[in-house]
Amino acid sequence: MKHFPIFMALEGRRVVLSGGGDAALAKLRLLLKTEAKISVVAAEAAPEIRNWASSGKLTLIPRAMEPGDALCASLFYAANEDDAEDARVAKLAHLDGALVNVVDNLEDSQFITPAIVDRDPVTVAIGTEGAAPVLARSIKKSLEEQLSPNLGLMARVGKAFRKHVEALPFGAKRRTFWSDYYSTDIGDAEVAQTRLEDLLDTHLHAPAREGWVDLVGAGPGDPELLTLKARKALDNADVVIYDRLVAPEILELARREAVMLSAGKEGFGPSVTQDAINEMIVSHARGGAHVVRLKSGDPTVFGRLDEEIEACEAAGVAWTIVPGITSASAAVAALGQSLTKRGRNSGVRFITGHDTKGFADHDWRALAAKGEVAAIYMGKKSARFFQGRLLMHGADPATPVTVIENASRPTQRILTTRLSELEPELTNAKFDGPALVFLGLAPRAALQLADQFDQQEAAI
Ligand code: SAH
Repeated sequence: MKHFPIFMALEGRRVVLSGGGDAALAKLRLLLKTEAKISVVAAEAAPEIRNWASSGKLTLIPRAMEPGDALCASLFYAANEDDAEDARVAKLAHLDGALVNVVDNLEDSQFITPAIVDRDPVTVAIGTEGAAPVLARSIKKSLEEQLSPNLGLMARVGKAFRKHVEALPFGAKRRTFWSDYYSTDIGDAEVAQTRLEDLLDTHLHAPAREGWVDLVGAGPGDPELLTLKARKALDNADVVIYDRLVAPEILELARREAVMLSAGKEGFGPSVTQDAINEMIVSHARGGAHVVRLKSGDPTVFGRLDEEIEACEAAGVAWTIVPGITSASAAVAALGQSLTKRGRNSGVRFITGHDTKGFADHDWRALAAKGEVAAIYMGKKSARFFQGRLLMHGADPATPVTVIENASRPTQRILTTRLSELEPELTNAKFDGPALVFLGLAPRAALQLADQFDQQEAAI
């Protein structure tokens, strides 16, 4: 972030602008919404600017800028639409000690003015650091459509009512009150006032809220692969207890006031014990909090979900499961393949390379059969173990094996190999992110190449 967004109190402060044409007009229309003392320095000013000056909205100095014109100004705009003149006046204003903006010149500006959605006192400022003005305009357009024109009025009436709401305990209760108030669009100050009074009465007499737990799948990492339900749970959470594999971009989506607690677990070997995690979940829910237990992928797949559910049940805490996209789904999508395919494999196994006892044992003979497909979770450290077991039980050494690291994330990497070469190739690839191993699947592109090669060989 090269520019730090702030809202500046301009009441009674000087803002000076040099220029009298279209660029000056555009900036002045915005500045006139504030309570700043505005001076315009322009040898030639558009009629609109002269009108504003004669009606006392701003002061017009009808000449070119001179040293000292921007003294005591908080902000200065160079808006002459002439590079040389803008550079000259910017230098003068700089010497006068003002913060300088040169219109349409990011490089020489000390601050920039964002695109604004105005629902005074609610103001949304959108900036792209000059990277994409078109994007800023389209975000502005969609926010303009989303935010009711009555929002400003509702916020003003709400603000005056704030002290009454202190009758509700701080935290979730007050938040629910305000979100109830803002959920109905009201365009009349009196109606808004009555609604606030009725709502406060209802909330004051509502029975104490019980906490509950959402066991939520965060998906494989790409925030766009979150379900809408997961998104909603994160929006409303009081407490988020997350595993280490949950992508930081997803944690960013949690409600800003939510308490974020790391459960520190990776695929195996928890650094916070499961009992301690259960205790964390239950104690927060019992305190009345909406707890989101956020797990990577789908919480029902190798997530120790049942232990957490049992802890909730034992404590009489309500819970729900919000399914997520498991990493096998994201990984197979990255290969352009499907998990099952007519004539190839009519079933697929989800297995773990590791369990509480160490390397996990499976029905190796069945897995070694031709055409078998398995998604192996936590399979990095155990790769040499299951490679050996499968070969020992008669698997074809040429069986395709594909390892997908960081599926769905920008750092995604794919290793395409064969069972006989899986190790040491996997170790040599030095994958340090979460990785999923597919036994019996190769990327579609690799298969097409192999087909072409076979056809060429047959032709020779
Ligand atoms: N509940 C999770 C799995 C938890 S076990 C799910 O449904 O995906 C942890 C294992 O999941 C990791 O060791 C790795 O094998 C796999 N995994 C999780 N996220 C992954 C990702 N983005 N890419 C590849 N594998 C991932």
